Amino acid sequence: MAQYDVVIIGGGPGGYNGAIRAGQLGLKTAIVEGRGKLGGTCLNVGCMPSKALLHASEMYEAATGGEFAKLGIEVKPKLNLVQMMAQKAESVEALTKGVEFLMKKNKVDYIKGWGRIDGPGKVVVKAEDGSETVLETKNIVIATGSEPTPLPGVTIDNQRIVDSTGALSLPEVPKSLIVIGAGVIGLELGSVWKRLGAEVTVVEFLDRILPGTDTEVANAFQKILAKQGFKFKLGAKVTGATASAKQVELTVEPVAGGAAETLQADYVLVAIGRRPFTEGLGLESVGIVPDKRGVIANDHFKTTAPGVWVVGDVTSGPMLAHKAEDEAVACMELIAGKAGHVNYGIIPGVIYTSPEVATVGQTEDDLKAAGVAYKVGKFPFLANSRAKINHETDGFVKVLADAKTDRILGAHAVGPNVGDMIAEICVAMEFGGSSEDVARTCHPHPTRSEAFRQAAMGVEGWTMQA
Ligand code: FAD
Ligand code: NAD
Repeated sequence: MAQYDVVIIGGGPGGYNGAIRAGQLGLKTAIVEGRGKLGGTCLNVGCMPSKALLHASEMYEAATGGEFAKLGIEVKPKLNLVQMMAQKAESVEALTKGVEFLMKKNKVDYIKGWGRIDGPGKVVVKAEDGSETVLETKNIVIATGSEPTPLPGVTIDNQRIVDSTGALSLPEVPKSLIVIGAGVIGLELGSVWKRLGAEVTVVEFLDRILPGTDTEVANAFQKILAKQGFKFKLGAKVTGATASAKQVELTVEPVAGGAAETLQADYVLVAIGRRPFTEGLGLESVGIVPDKRGVIANDHFKTTAPGVWVVGDVTSGPMLAHKAEDEAVACMELIAGKAGHVNYGIIPGVIYTSPEVATVGQTEDDLKAAGVAYKVGKFPFLANSRAKINHETDGFVKVLADAKTDRILGAHAVGPNVGDMIAEICVAMEFGGSSEDVARTCHPHPTRSEAFRQAAMGVEGWTMQA
């Protein structure tokens, strides 16, 4: 029987990053993954394939939507959806192979099959051929991730009514696509198909898009998306769906009450959130009881069962790959007797649409609700020279700082490349930095990052370029 220091169940960003760190720390480690490939949701059916299609569709739209012509580039683009999907699959394959290489490099055993906890210190792995291997270990780390939340009355067949996985591989560009849920998946994948030619309608239960995001940013973003052609039905609930061979019929009612209506579309994407995945995991064998939403609770990554830890989407907190990664690193460091820690106040969130949305720290809504005295500095991309020269002037940056100490409390932006640039604010916040620290840091010109500097200057009222 194999003996380990750590057995990780799940090969996603939580699992594989944890395995790498455990290997670096000299822990004898195994990673168990059932889907046949490492990388989890993120690499196989999440972050990476969605970004491959967002990139390709953005290029296509630039060529077809008039942007190339405006730049003086005349082309006659033709969509080859098969090739677009093939390049996505090739990139994903290369990434998952890369993770496999990293397991070898860090002396981690990759065990293929579905893992089941079988009492303290024991994991049974069932391979595809039905054979079982028993692993004995001092520590078990649960990193089994999440799955799409189903919507009662709307059965996902992944033919006409699809979840995010189905929406990453539609066989054709829909003439019409209805997205249920104005969250991150709905707006990213809605953007992909919109750019490729679909008419996209987003049906959202709440009266706003992107709940939890700074309201001013979300409202500005909604206007930008509407300008791009997105249609929104807010405050609306879907009560049923009927799929035929070529179409879906949805019944939708206003949440506030009123007459129901019927909507038709070629395809429907259900994107109303994700829920933890723990099926067949044997939690009962170690007495772990998830909460009503399926979440396994943790205290510094420890579950209620001695020697069993949990990280990533399957536990509390935002369902983001970098959050899973950071938790996994800290968890392994704690297992190795070091001081692992995650700063949950500084986990950035990015929506990879065009323009992008990026947020970190507290929103203005949070600060108002908590009665915190704060100052705001804002800067529009319309006044940023690089954005102007590139014809990408939609959006703005907002920096929020403590009214007394000037410490940065949050930053929220919609605009070109803000997803990359928010990292500068994360670093500043991690160092307890002030808006003045960012405002007085020399930024390269001409870059979009100057918009962050100018917004930071705005906190003390000395924005110079707007
Ligand atoms: P997962 O990645 O879900 O990995 C868990 C793995 O465990 C899976 O591979 C599963 O097969 C395996 N598993 C489960 N049970 C068992 C078992 N019993 N035995 C063996 N293996 C098991 N996040 C971002 O930060 N940025 C993005 O741009 C982004 N884009 C996304 C786009 C889409 C369409 C989706 C769906 C998600 C996206 N996410 C994004 C979210 C991100 O994918 C997740 O937050 C992240 O993958 C969570 O990592 P994890 O390791 O906790 O779980
Ligand atoms: P989400 O939580 O972002 O959005 C779900 C949306 O659906 C919300 O606006 C919610 O109000 C709405 N909703 C819920 N029930 C509804 C109903 N019955 N009818 C209509 N609307 C309803 O969830 P998601 O978009 O499915 O994404 C799931 C997770 O994946 C998120 O936690 C997200 O963090 C992660 N993700 C991240 C990225 C990224 O970081 N770029 C990309 C994709 C997914």
